[in-house]
Amino acid sequence: MGKASRDKRDIYYRKAKEEGWRARSAFKLLQIDEEFNIFEGVKHVVDLCAAPGSWSQVLSRKLYLPAKLSPDSEGTDLPLIVAIDLQPMAPIEGVIQVQGDITNARTAEVVIRHFDGCKADLVVCDGAPDVTGLHDMDEFVQSQLILAGLTIVTHILKNGGKFIAKIFRGKDTSLLYCQFHQLKLFFTEVTFAKPKSSRNSSIEAFAVCENYSPPEGFNEKDLHRLLEKVGSPSGADDLDCSSGWLEGPNKVYIPFLACGDLSGYDSDRSYPLTKAADGTYQSLDPIQPPIAPPYKRALELKKASSHGVHDIERLSIDS
Ligand code: SAM
Repeated sequence: MGKASRDKRDIYYRKAKEEGWRARSAFKLLQIDEEFNIFEGVKHVVDLCAAPGSWSQVLSRKLYLPAKLSPDSEGTDLPLIVAIDLQPMAPIEGVIQVQGDITNARTAEVVIRHFDGCKADLVVCDGAPDVTGLHDMDEFVQSQLILAGLTIVTHILKNGGKFIAKIFRGKDTSLLYCQFHQLKLFFTEVTFAKPKSSRNSSIEAFAVCENYSPPEGFNEKDLHRLLEKVGSPSGADDLDCSSGWLEGPNKVYIPFLACGDLSGYDSDRSYPLTKAADGTYQSLDPIQPPIAPPYKRALELKKASSHGVHDIERLSIDS
């Protein structure tokens, strides 16, 4: 798809470039905030799976920059924002970056060290695996990212804190119920939200978990054992959602909420482009393309293929 036609068909992509966001995802976090007021009183945040960085930009613009520019800021601690991703990310003012895998215990330790004993008020996770197109596989990997996020949450989120995590509303509703129940173990309020900027055709939604209150006597080391009791997202065999949770008096309704200005832009609609007086349209360049995207290698190979198969072979051998 050309840039101009993408601008026409994706209003949030166009708006992101106009407003200086690195990705259209920024609007999802902003619209979640409109509904749930997630930034209120927040001083310490972790942004999991942050690249290319539009959520970190939102955190910087909403929390760090206003605090830094405030006349009362002298001598007070500025908000701490730690962002993690497998991919490197161009710098953002007020954001500490950690490159690593959130499912790896060592990455979690690095994040915890940055907090140096203090606790986070908010953890956000927009993690998404490289989609394979095999829905079961994609949902499984996605559920592992939520689990990794929850593991980090149990180590650093303060009581009363919030956790926002991307979920996939796939065909397997039992997986969704399990995730809901797992999150409900730790948060008094759990809502699944669909921001207006997230396309209806996309199976993504966001779990908005409020008021972190782990079970009494909870030890972080017991997380996985505890989760097994409510069914593990990592194994369909453990799932027992059909018997208890979905029937009779035990039936649980997961609260789903659309958020963002519902009379505002519709991400599934095309909008006309504003043309200059001479009838031409100038598409803006992306704000910050990823530094080392996972598809970089594929692009190199594609480019090389136009020079002949030997180049592809050489590139493959060199890597
Ligand atoms: N929130 C980001 C923004 O606003 O710019 C977009 C995040 S993008 C949809 C998903 C990110 O998840 C990718 O950058 C990917 O590298 C990251 N990711 C996937 N698996 C990960 C893992 N195991 N550890 C760390 N990051 C991961």
